Formats: sequence, structure tokens, C-alpha cells
Amino acid sequence: MTGDDDPTVPIVCEECDTRTRVPLSELAGLLDRHNETRHDGAEVAGVEPELADRIADLAAEEMGLLDE
Ligand SMILES: [Zn+2]
Repeated sequence: MTGDDDPTVPIVCEECDTRTRVPLSELAGLLDRHNETRHDGAEVAGVEPELADRIADLAAEEMGLLDE
């Protein structure tokens, strides 16, 4: 914890062999720009898959989809 209230999200680009963390508020813009400039708009870079799964789980929980 840094005391910064903008959470960071790990992103991965396997083609560039890049792993970095970006502020959540800039995530979409940074991914767009990376994919646009490096990969002709292909969605190569993205949120780290493990985290993306967790976010999906959390979102599902939030919506009550996992409530059986
Ligand atoms: Zn890339």
C-alpha cells in the first residue's frame, strides 16, 4: 500500500514481453494506445489473465450470479 488512492492493475503484453502496472483510471486508454501503436489495433496487451479472472469472479459475485 502506498497511500495512493488510485489502484494499479497489472497488464501483460506477451508479444512485447512486457509486464507493468498502470493506474486503473488510465487502464483503458493505455491499453488502447499500446495496441493501436504497436499492434495495429489488435488486442494483444491486456489485464493479466489471473487478475481478469478474479475481477470477473468478483463482478459475478457482486451481481449474485454465484449465489446458489
Ligand atoms: Zn505489445
